[in-house]
Amino acid sequence: MSFTLPDLPYDYNALEPHIDARTMEIHHSKHHAAYTNNLNNAIADSALASKSIESLLREDASNTAIRNNGGGYYNHCMFWEVMSPNGGGTPSGDLASAIDSAFGSFDGFKTEFSKAAATRFGSGWAWLCVKNGKLDICSTANQDNPMMPGVGCEGHPILALDVWEHAYYLHYQNRRPDYIGAFFNVINWEEVTRRYKAAI
Ligand code: MN
Repeated sequence: MSFTLPDLPYDYNALEPHIDARTMEIHHSKHHAAYTNNLNNAIADSALASKSIESLLREDASNTAIRNNGGGYYNHCMFWEVMSPNGGGTPSGDLASAIDSAFGSFDGFKTEFSKAAATRFGSGWAWLCVKNGKLDICSTANQDNPMMPGVGCEGHPILALDVWEHAYYLHYQNRRPDYIGAFFNVINWEEVTRRYKAAI
């Protein structure tokens, strides 16, 4: 079995003005495509080829090629899905209650998540995870994922923000905090809620 680069669930320009079309096109058709191809090369002709992506992340992250390219494959698949041209606003229902309970308020969540994304030195990701039935915010380096053991951020991820420079530099240059602020306008809370319910 091999992994396939998924189509975006919207057009490259759909998230403008928050994330520009050129960045989305390069990010998806070049970066995500490369992680997908390199993952397929890393698992080819081995027992790893029969595993799910989740199993590879949980069980085989000590293999550098799986760690970097399996992480890159999974993280970007999730990233596209947790954004939407109809996104933004705030969640409702059980997820809203869980956010209030973990972070005091939606604004408390926004502050803490933004801080995790802004202070991740170099390349990496910010995460909202379910950990022991509760919500937790953390960040990882490179293409590490909270499902990988030993990343210091273990949990089941339900929201992901890519803070590699390739995710924002064309439009925002060095202004990562502006990109983080813009991300909140495109978060697909319906999809995050679906992932929360599946993880809890
Ligand atoms: Mn990326």
